[in-house]
Amino acid sequence: MSGNGMKIELPASIVVRELAQKIEKSPIDLIKKLMTNGVMATINQSVDFDTAAIVVAEYGFEAIPEALEEAPVETGVVPLWRQMIAGEDAALLKARPPVVTILGHVDHGKTSLLDAIRQTEVAAGETGGITQHIGAYQVEQKGRLITFLDTPGHAAFTQMRARGAQGADIVVLVVAADDGVMPQTREAIAHAKAARVPIIVALNKIDKPTANADRVKQQLAEQELIPDEWGGGTMVIPVSAKQKQGIDDLLEAILLVADTLEIKANPAGKVIGTVIEAELDKSRGVIATLLVQNGTLQMGDVVVAGIAHGKLRALSDYKGKAVKKAGPSTPVAAMGLSDVPSAGDLFEVVASDKEARVIVAERIEAAKTQTQSKKKMSLEDWFSNVKSSEMKELNLIVKADVQGSLDPIISELDKLKQDEINLKVLYAEAGNIGENDVMLASASHAILIGFNVQADVSARRLAEKEGVEIRLYEIIYRMTEDVEKALKGMLEPDVKEKIIGRAQALRVFSASKFGKVAGCRVTEGELRRNAKVKLYRGADLVYEGDMGSLRHEKEDVKEIKQGYECGVGFKGFNDIQPGDQLVCYVLEEA
Ligand code: GDP
Repeated sequence: MSGNGMKIELPASIVVRELAQKIEKSPIDLIKKLMTNGVMATINQSVDFDTAAIVVAEYGFEAIPEALEEAPVETGVVPLWRQMIAGEDAALLKARPPVVTILGHVDHGKTSLLDAIRQTEVAAGETGGITQHIGAYQVEQKGRLITFLDTPGHAAFTQMRARGAQGADIVVLVVAADDGVMPQTREAIAHAKAARVPIIVALNKIDKPTANADRVKQQLAEQELIPDEWGGGTMVIPVSAKQKQGIDDLLEAILLVADTLEIKANPAGKVIGTVIEAELDKSRGVIATLLVQNGTLQMGDVVVAGIAHGKLRALSDYKGKAVKKAGPSTPVAAMGLSDVPSAGDLFEVVASDKEARVIVAERIEAAKTQTQSKKKMSLEDWFSNVKSSEMKELNLIVKADVQGSLDPIISELDKLKQDEINLKVLYAEAGNIGENDVMLASASHAILIGFNVQADVSARRLAEKEGVEIRLYEIIYRMTEDVEKALKGMLEPDVKEKIIGRAQALRVFSASKFGKVAGCRVTEGELRRNAKVKLYRGADLVYEGDMGSLRHEKEDVKEIKQGYECGVGFKGFNDIQPGDQLVCYVLEEA
């Protein structure tokens, strides 16, 4: 049976068995579907809403959050940590410390703030201080613990999210009061909102004479983070990491927000959590920082983390002190795993080494099929995915050459909004498409649109791996036309540009027959005489069309490979300059 677009209401988290019942499918079938989507769950475990929504969509259902109306996105109320505890008896749940991650623009003071918070703790009576960096630490405020993940930056945060794990309960967004909302601030907001994690703003560097708190609050309000003093839902706490001012206020704010989230776990329940970081130490073997999210991890436990497993030989806390066990929200450095797991991998305690091996073998097998079957979220697929449902959502991430081109693009996209279709620009920023954009797109099932920009090599590779579609445009109406067609389901599985090679123009010379010719070196792939070319100067596209000539050492050639030099002429185009980048592509049926 296919859902044919039928809507089903789903809670923030649901046990696999119940989900199967809801859509009248066999639980085994559902577990397999989850696996192909990279989620390992047993029949009694639960999955979060986002995961459930993706899986039920594959059966033709459309998932709607149960209580979205009361759930303003900015306060983030679908706590994904619930998935960790959904199988637990509610009577056994106890409050656990909130887990906090710090995001923000470079140089706004993330590292300084993490250090200031850590030192406040030392001043409060820790002898010896915290000398170890295990990727997370805890502080005490009014007798309550708070766990901080101390690898700042959204790379770590997004990596976890893209893997379906949810490391943090709360995001502290650091914004420098003298600099205001910057590109990475907006990126961090987009990440936190997409993950539905509440944001507290730490308005840093208020000691600076150039600090302008009101201006920053105004900018935050423009990002839909309305400061609470203005009647909004976002706490904005003035701090100075440098002078260690406002730290207590920030910790208080974290506890207040934590209280609205009901962060709980069963210390006696199934042991499960997330790998924060891991490395191979020459003398001690694999050391992994594990953040316990439910249950109590003990020395001697057999753990499976991603595709690593092993019996834990030693545990130490963030101060480097040996401990025998670690309860919910506690980070511990653990020794004894066979391999180095990845940051963001979930871990769990299993009954025996034998069971651990079976799980790992299954995961390796599932990972193989996953890479084979990973479905690309493309503009063409999008419509067919949601064709018959009433409520549709298309998430877009837009990158453009300059900030000035973003506004017209967004207003054009806004015009395409239709009642029954939710067209959402998750994030729009000036600059080339980088890995971070791809990670955000992957984690939020968005399509990446570039306007007069290129995608970095690393971003293209990642997009390929993650199954993210990148669409590049030079003309606004072509972009809006495509989006409009997608919204109407009219986008033909069109011919796509497939890049087969890149070259750089090193010098320019005149060849009487061909006019100007670019002396190039092929830097990637190959150039083909009968393929098409684009010539970029920086981010500007200066030529697009056929190749007029392709020569290698005065000989006409059909193709030329990476590493070789060649001469390239362009039909009817002579304005070539050294340093220009040449992209060679063929048109293929998508
Ligand atoms: P990150 O890139 O966000 O981790 O930023 P850092 O923590 O490395 O800080 C960037 C710079 O800002 C450093 O030179 C810090 O000394 C400075 N800084 C950080 N916090 C403050 C603050 O509260 N006041 C002042 N005046 N400078 C600060």
